[in-house]
Amino acid sequence: MIAGKAANSRRGDECLEPVVLLLACVMFAEHHDIVLIERPPAPDALARPVLAPDKLTSPSKMRGIERFSLLHSLLMVELSWPEHALFLILLAASVYGFWFRFGKVWRTVLASKKDPEFHIQPVGRRVTDFVSEVLLQSKVIKQRPLPGIAHAFVFWGFCAFALVTINHFGQGVGLHLFSRDGFFGRIYFSLAAIFGIAVAVSIAGLAFRRLVIRPKWLGKVSYESGFIALLIFLLMVTYLGTFLPGMEENKPLWWAHTLTLLIFMPLIPHTKHLHLVLSPVTVFLKRDKFSKIPPLVGDEDFGLDTGKDVTQLISLQAYSCVECGRCTQHCPANNTGKVLNPKEIALGMRGYLNEFGPASEEPLLGKYLLQEAAFQCTTCGACEFQCPVGVQHLPMIIGLRRGAVNTGKWEDDYGTKLFLNLERNGNALGFSSTERDKFIQKQEFPIFDGTQEYCLWLGCMGAYDPQGREIISSFAQVMRHLNVSFGVLRKEKCTGDPARRLGNDLAFGQLAENNLETLKQSKVKKIVSICPHCVRTMGTDWAEYGEAPPIEHHSEFLARHLDMLPSKTGDGQKIVYHDPCYLGRYRGVYDAPRSVVGQFGELVDPPRARERSFCCGAGGGLAFLGEEKGQRVSVTRAQELADTGATIVGAACPFCNTMFRDALSGISKTPPKLMDIAQIAASQINPSS
Ligand code: SF4
Ligand code: SF4
Repeated sequence: MIAGKAANSRRGDECLEPVVLLLACVMFAEHHDIVLIERPPAPDALARPVLAPDKLTSPSKMRGIERFSLLHSLLMVELSWPEHALFLILLAASVYGFWFRFGKVWRTVLASKKDPEFHIQPVGRRVTDFVSEVLLQSKVIKQRPLPGIAHAFVFWGFCAFALVTINHFGQGVGLHLFSRDGFFGRIYFSLAAIFGIAVAVSIAGLAFRRLVIRPKWLGKVSYESGFIALLIFLLMVTYLGTFLPGMEENKPLWWAHTLTLLIFMPLIPHTKHLHLVLSPVTVFLKRDKFSKIPPLVGDEDFGLDTGKDVTQLISLQAYSCVECGRCTQHCPANNTGKVLNPKEIALGMRGYLNEFGPASEEPLLGKYLLQEAAFQCTTCGACEFQCPVGVQHLPMIIGLRRGAVNTGKWEDDYGTKLFLNLERNGNALGFSSTERDKFIQKQEFPIFDGTQEYCLWLGCMGAYDPQGREIISSFAQVMRHLNVSFGVLRKEKCTGDPARRLGNDLAFGQLAENNLETLKQSKVKKIVSICPHCVRTMGTDWAEYGEAPPIEHHSEFLARHLDMLPSKTGDGQKIVYHDPCYLGRYRGVYDAPRSVVGQFGELVDPPRARERSFCCGAGGGLAFLGEEKGQRVSVTRAQELADTGATIVGAACPFCNTMFRDALSGISKTPPKLMDIAQIAASQINPSS
């Protein structure tokens, strides 16, 4: 029956009739010694006996020869010597075309400044990321499932075709490296055929999406991408064609596959498909922490000012960008009409390196990278989180800000005022510290004296902003209810977060050192804060200046004590929770605040939640700068939160709170109530509050 099916297939079906079935039949027949296809031996097959004549005796051996000659012929394309010569010339031209561009890129990367803080450790984490993000394509699939799967098949297909291609080139020089008739060959070439079909379908789908559907974040239609997709499709078709009956030794097909390969190869480094070669390296070598800001080294390091400051990692990442637009799609600045486009940060860096090179003294901010764009970034990290090829935008953007601020090229009245406030008053809002003292007295907060368990960090918002003060009061109320001892510092300065993100390392360093000294003198062992920006800055950025005591966000604290807090009565109100960027993407805390909200109300998520959360617009020091261009980020997000129909917007960051306060009242006469999770918890302890 199997033989019959295969024979029918050979007689009638000229389409790519299930290659898989045919190959399965071949393998099955091999195993059971069944003749699949009766056909007279080809004249040239007779001319090249594969077994010695004295062994050609029994019928089963004869059947073996039939079978062997079919499978053997699937591989054998005999080229004449002029064809070998032509192949070699074309191969040399193709390799030269590849190296001509790739060599330049490689030399540029190597000529860039070494990353002073780079260390290959921890290798385990690098290997895990490589396996997950490159081999398993986890990020690509998770963030855009359908195109992600299609892309993953193309990638896996390329891997599967490695030996097919080596084998193919081998034939070009008269070497028959792998046979399809061995055990390994049968399995391997069958799998390659299956991948061939998957790649052909996937690349056709991706090309349709890019050229016909055209999502806006992909930018202008790229005919270059269309041509590359066509080449990949042709590569698959010309391979699969060899499985069609009668096409096994087809020379035009062999040459078609060869020429497609030889055209494709030099195009890789000349196009965005350079990521095929670079991105595995980039993912493996990327900085080990999210949004890691490398330290400045020495008195002459001002950040990213000229080409001389571009490091090898930045160079490598700039050339790895595949222009997929994932970063742009999720960027709050770009989504609200600002000039900032994170994709253009990577491509701008590449454009600069192509034109000026890594040794240039030409300022980076200029033709390819705009200062205005660099200072529109909220440092939300959505771009860096989304990027599938390991581009880390934040060290670039903050590096550019550093370059502009440290060389006096950034002139902004709000920025100047903010830096003065930090320098003179030690807080970003510009109040006298006596205001903080009065608030502490009014709230009867104990001063930390080393006997309490926690130091409650007020932060600028908790100490001076009216809404921030309400959050602190509510949280202190919950701590008292839980009988957890705490105290506040007599003196406390801004953590330096806005200075750090805006590129003012001098102000940041002074604030960090000052606070570290205060914490040390006060013998603080544990800190809790209502502000994710403070948590991140103290827990990570201060490390350059010394070790801070462990710090946690109040959502983590509350989640740990939930069983000691009252539960909701009845259904509770519908509360939509907004993930703050610095708690979610930066710290990976998504469930703790949700568990608090869920304890007291009915939790709902907005369309963009968790890793995909949309920024409130305050981060990166932008809360202290002037009016935004285009639509306000906070209004866009507030509308999205209100559209869920929730009666309460749950926040977990005083900056989000301050941004949404105005935005919500601007979008509706009866907007949802805005509450921090500490206020939600406190309202259950004392229902009248
Ligand atoms: S960090 Fe956020 S605002 Fe800045 S470029 Fe990236 S996505 Fe845009
Ligand atoms: S930087 Fe990353 S996410 Fe953005 S376009 Fe390039 S590859 Fe895509």
